[in-house]
Amino acid sequence: MTDLDAWRDLPADQQPEWEDPAELAAVIAQLAKQPPLVFAGECDQLKDRLAAVARGEAFVLQGGDCAETFDGSSADAVRNKLKTLLQMAVVLTYAGSVPVVKIGRMAGQFAKPRSKATEIRDGVEHPAYRGDAVNGFEFTAEARRYDPRRLLQAYYCSAMTLNLSRAFTKGGYADLRQVHAWNQDFVSSSPAGQRYDRLAGEIDRALAFMKACGADPEEFHGVEFYSSHEALLLEYERALTRIDARTGLPYDVSAHLLWIGERTRGLDDAHVEFMRHIRNPIAVKLGPTTSSDDVLALIERLNPDQEPGRLTFITRMGAGRIRDALPSLVEKVTQSGAPVAWICDPMHGNTFEAPSGHKTRRFDDVLDEVAGFFEVHRALGTHPGGIHIEFTGDDVTECVGGGHEIVETDLHQRYETACDPRLNRGQSLDLAFIVAEMYRK
Ligand code: PEP
Ligand code: MN
Repeated sequence: MTDLDAWRDLPADQQPEWEDPAELAAVIAQLAKQPPLVFAGECDQLKDRLAAVARGEAFVLQGGDCAETFDGSSADAVRNKLKTLLQMAVVLTYAGSVPVVKIGRMAGQFAKPRSKATEIRDGVEHPAYRGDAVNGFEFTAEARRYDPRRLLQAYYCSAMTLNLSRAFTKGGYADLRQVHAWNQDFVSSSPAGQRYDRLAGEIDRALAFMKACGADPEEFHGVEFYSSHEALLLEYERALTRIDARTGLPYDVSAHLLWIGERTRGLDDAHVEFMRHIRNPIAVKLGPTTSSDDVLALIERLNPDQEPGRLTFITRMGAGRIRDALPSLVEKVTQSGAPVAWICDPMHGNTFEAPSGHKTRRFDDVLDEVAGFFEVHRALGTHPGGIHIEFTGDDVTECVGGGHEIVETDLHQRYETACDPRLNRGQSLDLAFIVAEMYRK
């Protein structure tokens, strides 16, 4: 058995128990024959970008749905997400005066870890929804069956989304002036946006100045965009791992960046073992109970050679915990000298259930966690390297608060997520302008 299969002997959490192993084997054989979704050279380039983040020279904006769905992979939905992400990135680039590394939680985010294996509604019990790569969202026995053929569909859907993303970000749609014009629209057309008039005006003048100078660099016409998802389903990730012809090293070609979730980061478990051997840049989510020994052991296991850009930590502590839980982790890592990038996920520690039963998050808690993240890093002299958010480009009503003041009784209006509540388009832009101001201070 090669290193890439050593995880098979270890405990692997959150793996679906597929009904028919022969069917799974047939699907895996198919997947193993599919072309790569990303190239090893692109993964290396992202690693370089993340090394710059770790050095304090760039900022990450990573985001997308909690769970992508096959139906939600339409051209419109993908375009709206990209458009929002690009708009946020322009504001952050200007305010931070550093490159913003744009990473979609897109083109592969089809599998979810769940806290309970089954779901009970009105006394009826079915397997929990584990993402479109595993089963259907609809609450019926048929939809909730774990169907390995969905893995292939997840691959095809990822290919489609990535193809669209590459076209949108390289084909003129992402032109800086165009993206800025969308931001001006947001600022002038909504009462929430008006608060950002000054910042938008500054960007406008900077662009006018460059135009007057005759500067029109290639970078204004397209952007680098990378894909990422949680590497949860190990059979899928293994089937898409290939030996790069240039270097002879294994890369998981299902996405540029893969991360290990808070629930599956056990040091001696299958996920850490698998991820140890792929050469992509990788990330690990860290929740509020993480100890500094855990973090140092993860570094030792996942980046023993201290390769810059290889390892990113995505902290998701909760607004109430971050100021207490984060400092000791950052301090110990800094003392160890390991080159890591720190990213703040202000979503997953701030989820609660509204009286209506909807899972939601308060915009103010999200902001407060980002503020805490900046405070901790500033106090320690380390670099707040970026944010990781769950958002959509559509006007959903899933998180409360923000400039348009969504309240708990509005949640039912457009609650469309297949898993966790996402910031909508306005809330995401709001967040970008506010974080930009924090970054500047
Ligand atoms: C997620 O990113 O959707 C997720 C499940 O996060 P975490 O692993 O941090 O709980
Ligand atoms: Mn989520």
